[in-house]
Parts: sequence; structure tokens; C-alpha cells
Amino acid sequence: MCGIFGVVGHPEAANIAYLGLHALQHRGQESCGIVSSNAEELFAHRAMGRVASAFTPTDLERLPGDVAIGHVRYSTAGGSHLKNAQPLAIDFELGSLAIAHNGNLTNYEAVRQRLEARGSIFQTRSDTEAVLHLIATSRAASLRDRIVDALRQVEGAYSLLFQDLRTVIAVRDPMGFRPLCLGILPLSGGGPGGRATSAQPPRAYVVASEPVAFDLIGAEFLRDVEPGEMLVIDRSGVQSSRPFDPRPRRSCLFEYVYFARPDSRLDGVGVYDVRKRAGARLFEEHPVDGARASDTVVVPVPDSGVPAAIGLAARAALPFEMGLIRSHYVGRTFIEPQQSIRHFGVRLKLNPNASVLRDKRVIVVDDSIVRGTTSRKLVRMLRSAGAREVHVRISSPPTAWPCYYGIDTPTRAELIAASHSTEEIRRYLTADTLGYLSLEGLLGAVRDAAPEAGGASDGSPGHCHACFSGDYPVPFARAERQLRLIHG
Ligand code: AMP
Repeated sequence: MCGIFGVVGHPEAANIAYLGLHALQHRGQESCGIVSSNAEELFAHRAMGRVASAFTPTDLERLPGDVAIGHVRYSTAGGSHLKNAQPLAIDFELGSLAIAHNGNLTNYEAVRQRLEARGSIFQTRSDTEAVLHLIATSRAASLRDRIVDALRQVEGAYSLLFQDLRTVIAVRDPMGFRPLCLGILPLSGGGPGGRATSAQPPRAYVVASEPVAFDLIGAEFLRDVEPGEMLVIDRSGVQSSRPFDPRPRRSCLFEYVYFARPDSRLDGVGVYDVRKRAGARLFEEHPVDGARASDTVVVPVPDSGVPAAIGLAARAALPFEMGLIRSHYVGRTFIEPQQSIRHFGVRLKLNPNASVLRDKRVIVVDDSIVRGTTSRKLVRMLRSAGAREVHVRISSPPTAWPCYYGIDTPTRAELIAASHSTEEIRRYLTADTLGYLSLEGLLGAVRDAAPEAGGASDGSPGHCHACFSGDYPVPFARAERQLRLIHG
């Protein structure tokens, strides 16, 4: 998974992009990058690691101009190389072009084979590079039309930012898998993009995966980019068009469960609100028999389980306690634990708070179980700290299917719910009880959080929930192999 950010018309575009990426850091920590433009050429800086350490003040000074795009990339198995860092930047027939991508193209392999048969050579295993080749080989006249031509040949999930010397073009795929939103940033001075006219006060435009990126820089959220919409943004303003055939909306449900920041609103729906409502519904679907405030505590797995645990505790009228304390300073460690130090990996991040756990019945709430290793270790940890019973509650349905649209879930073989029943998983976790929220319950939580946001025009809820249901809205030929190609 990744996060993308773009800014047009700000005299310190790279600094603004840097701050925007900071706010999107949760969407990817493996690598990051910014490309800026001073209307004469593109300047790029890409590095491994997090935004705060990847850019020095000198790096940012070397990114001049009033247009910039940026990218944060999520770590994926085996694909941890600087050459995969984005934005990618190239020179071609029409000039300089940079691209930043969040999503995953499902027909990448076929597109690549076709391009290679025509003589294209690739430098990376990234599907994003294929889009650049399609643009470079298109016969359409303008950059905008070449992008449309290229994107009509790809399928799957993409929120994309393109940048030439003066323009940022933002596109969200016709099903709207990944989020993207537009904002406006008032400028106090008369910078390059902010030269005031009588009609228009000085301002810059910003686009981002999530609106939390706007909060940090003081920009105002204007609206979500609609599925299938293309925005051409330059100093004079924003032009919207819908160059693709309409498809049913299928925005990602897992963004609400785990991926997006809780303080974001996606497509008009507040993420925090969804998570709290999911927690309340989870308790309705899976109460804990005989739970009383005198002997039962609701404990979140921080940070991902916190809003759902708040909602669950309120609905159950049970005390919410921080029974697991998270270290915020966990980086990669090079100290190998001895065999005798059990649970080392999870303990580095989470430690049980015995003072609230001892002799209690504990309802521990997390957003999802992937392989099951975290929950299994947590159950043991809670018991070792004195919990009398451990009831695991998960605020989404069993994750049983890999995502081919941009979330980095492992293969089906590694997903515990792909091959085990809930009872088998409970036994593996050694929990007293285990309850997952149903898909209907989760969709209901989204619906309740923003009834006005509605569903898709075809009457469906308008979300992709393939990771829970196996109902894939876009076919993916040989997708497991494809994923390995892209990420490995
Ligand atoms: P596991 O130990 O593999 O079962 O991992 C479960 C934990 O991973 C949960 O606490 C989730 O919040 C978190 N999680 C779920 N999906 C993802 C993802 N795509 N990337 C990283 N972490 C995730």
C-alpha cells in the first residue's frame, strides 16, 4: 500500500509535499520520495525509510519550484529496493514526466508482455513503470490524452498523480478502489502560484490519499476525487473530466477497518466513526456471557484496535482499559533474541499492563487477524499478566482472501482464516472465545457512519470486500504470480 500527495502553485512545493507525506506515513514506511518542478526541469529525491529521516534540509533545498508530487511506499516481502521507490521520473517525446501510484494493476503481466514484445525495456518490477511505457508509446497528441489512452488499457486499482513541468494530473480508477481527495491551500503572500488577481485570492491546490494530509498544512478539504475522474491542476485552477466508461463503485472496505488514519474521512465517511460503530456491532453479534463491569475489562490492541474497543466498551457498558501499552519507539532491531526469550517480537511493541489485567476477564479487541501470530502471542501475554479469561474480538470478518488491489496481504496459504474455521483459530490462539464481526455488520457500520454518503448507483453498498468475501470485482488472471512479480 502507498500514499500519494501533490501540490500545485505553492512557492515551497517540496516542503509542503514533505509535510503532506509526513501525515500519510502510516500508508507506507519502506521508502519515500518527492519530485518537484521549477517550470524548467524536474528534480527528484528518493530514499529508503521514513519521511523524517529520508529528507535533510539540504535535500529539500535541492527540490525547487512551485509544483511537486510525493509518495510513501509500504514494505512488501522481498521488494525492498530503492529502485522501487517513487515518484518515478522519465524524459520522453513530450518532455519530463513523473508518476506516483497507489494501487495495483491486475492486468500488469499481460500489459508488460505486450510492451516487451514491442521492444520496451523495464528497469523495475513495478506495475507503475508499465503505465509510463503506455504513455510514452501512445500516439495521442497531448499528455492528458496519452494518460487517458494508457489508463484505458490497464485494469485494477489506481489512484495516480502525474506531474510535468507545470501541471499535476490526478486520476482515480473507475471503481474508486483507493481513496484520493482535493484541497485548497490559501497563501498569505503572492508566491508564484499565489499571485492574486482581482477574482482569485492567492492559493495552491493539493491532492492527497487522505484528508489528514491537508490538516497538517492548513489546507481546506474541497472534496473527494470521484471514481473515474481526472483532474488537471495548474496555476489557473482545476479542470475535471470523466474520460473512462463508468463502472460500479468499489472503494476498499479495509481502508475503514485498518489502513486509513482514524481522523480521515473517506468518500464522506469518517473512519473513526466507522471503527467505533463496528466495535459496538461486534459486541451485539458476539457478547461475552455474564460480563460485568466489576470483573471484566475491554482492552484494545493499540493502535489499530482502539476505536473499535471504545465502541464495544460503550455498547457493553464495560470499562475500557489500556491493558496493553505500546512502545512508540519500535524500529528494526538487529539484536537477535535468544531462544529462551519468548514472544520477543511482539513484546518489543506491546507490553501487558498487569495492574488492569490481574484476575480480570479480558475482552481484547483488534481490527483484524492476518496470520494469527500477533493474536496468539497477545493471548499468552495477557494470561501471563494475570488475566483470568481472554475473549478475542475482531472488528472485521475473517481475512481469508489476498488483496489484488493494493493492500499487502500475504498469499492464501499464509492467511489463517483461509484454511481454518473460527473454532480452529480460537484453539490456535488459545483464547476462551473468539468472535469476528460479520460482513453485514461491517457494511452496516459504514452505512450508519454516513447515511448520506449512500451506496453505488447499482444498489450495492459500493465497496470492495474481496479480502473477506472472495468476491473480486475485477478479474485477475494468474494474480498470485503477478503479485510475486511486482513485489518480489
Ligand atoms: P498477524 O500477526 O499476521 O495476524 O497480524 C495481525 C495484525 O496485523 C493486526 O494487529 C492488524 O492490525 C495488522 N494488519 C492487518 N492488515 C495488515 C496489513 N495489510 N499490513 C500490516 N499490518 C496489518
